[in-house]
Amino acid sequence: MIELRDVCFSYGDGFSLRNICLRIERGSFVLLVGANGSGKTTLLKILAGLLPIHSGSVRLDGRLVGSEELRELSCYVFHNPFDQIVGSTVEEDIAFGLENLGLNRNCIRNKVDRALRMFNLLEKSSANPLTLSGGTAQKLAVASMYVLEPEVFLLDEPTSMLDDLGVEELKEALSELKKLGKTIIISTHEPRVFFELATSVVHMVDGGVDFHGSVNAFIERQFGDVEL
Ligand code: ADP
Repeated sequence: MIELRDVCFSYGDGFSLRNICLRIERGSFVLLVGANGSGKTTLLKILAGLLPIHSGSVRLDGRLVGSEELRELSCYVFHNPFDQIVGSTVEEDIAFGLENLGLNRNCIRNKVDRALRMFNLLEKSSANPLTLSGGTAQKLAVASMYVLEPEVFLLDEPTSMLDDLGVEELKEALSELKKLGKTIIISTHEPRVFFELATSVVHMVDGGVDFHGSVNAFIERQFGDVEL
């Protein structure tokens, strides 16, 4: 379980995250919603260990953790999957992070094969990732992270570049991760598309969390700044 207690962060003179208190259970599927500029990406980057906290604490199962440990625990998937592509074929892209870890060829082959099957990418294994549709590229971004075995997947506006089919492909990939008990946190302007998978919704306003509850409780509150 990840717990944020009174976490504060500031970019300087401008925007701040203020006193964020949040408990995220292992295996949960959390939607992060709120108006543009409310701090969703900033909070995701704190959870990913990509930004430092200025005060407060982050605990993992009760133990204080810093940015380095958060980076090992989690992965951050950018809203544009094409920004994350590093390989010249789908399988090379998935293998890239594993090669950097110095694993042997057989081990890499096995892990890549498992990911290709799990995310329904076998047919595309030799394709150039830059030729993929948005949805398939987003699945590839998730698959390339999955092989590194993070516990927590942080996705920033993953549907912003996807058509309906792409959204379905992404949901298919996320439901596989959910079945494995991974923790998934998604910032989104379109929470509705994830309601069937989500376990809770966090609503942010001006750098603070003003609601964390079930999907039904969130729908009942009818926040004016979130389109349903
Ligand atoms: P959201 O994801 O909810 O749209 P963000 O976390 O991206 O919100 O941004 C929150 C605020 O922080 C915005 O006002 C944005 O302009 C500002 N901001 C984001 N990144 C930086 C940065 N690197 N330096 C200064 N301000 C930033």
